[in-house]
Amino acid sequence: MSTVVRPRGELLVGVDVGGSKIAVLVTDPTANVRGRYTQSTQVGAPERAVAVIGRAIDAALADAGADLGAVAAVGVGVPGRVDPIEGTVTQAVNLGWHDLPLGPRLAKALGVPVGLENDVRAAAIGLRERRVLGDVEDFAYVSVGTGIAAGIVLDGRLRRGPRGMAGEIGHVVIEPDGPACPCGLRGCLETLAAGPAVARRAADAMASGARSSLAGIDPLAAADVYEAAVAGDALAIRVADDVARLLARAIHLLVMTYDVEVVAVGGGVARAGDAFLDPLLRALDELRDASPLAAEVLVPGVVHLLSAPDTGAWGAIAVARLALGQVAATPVGREVGDG
Ligand SMILES: [Zn+2]
Repeated sequence: MSTVVRPRGELLVGVDVGGSKIAVLVTDPTANVRGRYTQSTQVGAPERAVAVIGRAIDAALADAGADLGAVAAVGVGVPGRVDPIEGTVTQAVNLGWHDLPLGPRLAKALGVPVGLENDVRAAAIGLRERRVLGDVEDFAYVSVGTGIAAGIVLDGRLRRGPRGMAGEIGHVVIEPDGPACPCGLRGCLETLAAGPAVARRAADAMASGARSSLAGIDPLAAADVYEAAVAGDALAIRVADDVARLLARAIHLLVMTYDVEVVAVGGGVARAGDAFLDPLLRALDELRDASPLAAEVLVPGVVHLLSAPDTGAWGAIAVARLALGQVAATPVGREVGDG
């Protein structure tokens, strides 16, 4: 057990560590926003992580007119496998981190309690805590970004699973002969429908001779494809529709597996808004038209689009609150030990 660090002030700090940015939110105990900071660069090498995240937190606290002395707890969401008890990032492929004890190191550097959680699971906890989806006890939050993953909340509680893998639908095989995935399998959902796959589908079609307004855009991103689809580009519309059919099946899979009431969809790709949502709704209609059973479970409104960029940071705030609860539950005499 690592050293228990006691809270100093009352502010909560949520840090959403993404593949290409760090977003920090500062709130008071009743969830009023007091400060924000976003840096659009990668967090970098593991040995620099504590310093880089610490500077981002300082900037957000400066925006709030506060400093670390006013902080009760910090929550951090990281895209990868996390041991939330030890505060260790087991594996974050997109960040190049492996067995990094980020939680204890940050707590030591900042002098406040720090909670760590997978970013998508954290976002799901945050959606539940803030009742963003209403009084829904059973829901899934699907993040579509660089990868695809889900956070599952059942009976109002996050389902993590004994290995912390519940909801890792990005590595469910959809096409056994599909593209190779870093996990070792082929045709995983995220190799076919995450952001890089959206861009690759368009690039591959153009390489095969298809004409598109996307020609010449380099590097091509999923956002470009959705923008072109809205503008009427036939190739982009086809790509958006093909990807939407796969995502609709993933939503159907989640509903059939867990009988969740709502599937909230967010992440970097979903930020395309209606350009992302409209093809998805059409694809869900195709499933409903084909099957009375699918129509029964895929109720109207089953999909809830979250296009705001701060779902992850609010999730990290919820993780901070959980970290605070754990500290409060630890008897003062038991806080000895060495991280
Ligand atoms: Zn995979």
